[in-house]
Amino acid sequence: MRMNSIPQKTYFFSENEEAFQAGPVDFREPVAHLVEIIFHKFKHLLPQNRDAHILLKPNCNNDLHPLLGNATDLRILKSVVNGLKERGYQHIVIADGPNIGTYRKQINVFSRLGIRSLCRHTGVRLVDLNQAPSVRVDLFTDTVAIPEILFESDFVISLPKFKTHAEAVVSFAMKNLIGCVCGVDKRKVHNDLPANIAALNKEIPVHLIIGDGLIVMEGNGPGDGQPFFAGMLLAGTDSFWLDGVAARLTGFDPHRIPAWQNASTMQRASEKQLASLMAIQPAFQLVPAPARGFWVRFLDHPGLAAIRDKTRFLHSQHRARTFLYRLGLLQDVYSQDNSRIDRLVFYQHRCDACRLCEAVCPLGSPPCSPSHDPSACLRCLSCWWICPHDAIAIQGKPGYILEHRNRFSQRLKRLRDQMLKSHTAWNN
Ligand code: SF4
Ligand code: SF4
Repeated sequence: MRMNSIPQKTYFFSENEEAFQAGPVDFREPVAHLVEIIFHKFKHLLPQNRDAHILLKPNCNNDLHPLLGNATDLRILKSVVNGLKERGYQHIVIADGPNIGTYRKQINVFSRLGIRSLCRHTGVRLVDLNQAPSVRVDLFTDTVAIPEILFESDFVISLPKFKTHAEAVVSFAMKNLIGCVCGVDKRKVHNDLPANIAALNKEIPVHLIIGDGLIVMEGNGPGDGQPFFAGMLLAGTDSFWLDGVAARLTGFDPHRIPAWQNASTMQRASEKQLASLMAIQPAFQLVPAPARGFWVRFLDHPGLAAIRDKTRFLHSQHRARTFLYRLGLLQDVYSQDNSRIDRLVFYQHRCDACRLCEAVCPLGSPPCSPSHDPSACLRCLSCWWICPHDAIAIQGKPGYILEHRNRFSQRLKRLRDQMLKSHTAWNN
């Protein structure tokens, strides 16, 4: 598929508020093409001054791989960094604050997702927002610490991932800003999630949103959902409208998303704007996350926060967390990072040349490719996750990452089928 044949659509809500969709596309379409289309579309927004400080805020809340529909795809991050560098911007920062549970298990989310390597290879600074100098900001229920760098940057690009979410219904542009709240203060946001998300979006400046709708998540998100190949990017300047468009395109009614509904009061959306949003026809019908049961809502009640904190030594034990997770009372459970990745090896005799690995590799050169350069590899493991025949293997100790992949093996199989079918579908 050639770049100019990618379906593109702009949704207008008023003179200043528009949302842009590039896709759906075949899985082989280079993501850099989609990002270039978006940069071209929004070029008037980029800072005139090439010395401007630009902050990229992806969604890397935990170590679940982007192919599972949880984190922002490294192909998008890399394409955005390259696009900015090609335009002469030098002061680029990638920043996020992963879930604090991952630190307790010595999981370095940035390393695990390949973001640390990307920064090293591209000369981009990496900032852990959980540990950055901060200022106190009033949200709806609480005052929380927000990193100063978000307010000091000249231009902030949010790079959210679309996924279903048991508590928030869906997570996309508006919810992406929870990662900006420092450390344990993230918990306070849950004291009234919809109102606090809306408040965060009012307080934190975001100038452009490039939303990851390549491989999204449906079902029991964010910790245990199903990846779904949607093959699109969504962009805009307003998180509220972009979330509305993303919801419509994936078959959700935005009015049923509590944070969106809450923000719609602040946004003062007109009847006409809402009507144009609701006129958008779904491109896919994603399965929603199951509603949170009585016990989850009871145990999560803000009134029990003090008891939860006092008994944390009990329920933070791995066995207890695994038990609560299996009962559906926890969204995620982390395993100790016991992996060591020395290098990737390629077994030619197992390879059927499906090229899935080439499509998902941020460099476009996985181990089966003649252009593969081990010293340039970002260790994101996308090629290893997607390969249907174990033709790419980890040399070292896969450890808990292998357990992860085994847990998701059936879901990955469905994803591969969807990707391979997309090639046929979009080309017929
Ligand atoms: S070769 Fe594999 S691990 Fe290396 S950058 Fe490409 S997808 Fe990631
Ligand atoms: S994904 Fe696996 S089977 Fe497919 S081309 Fe790559 S190495 Fe070969």
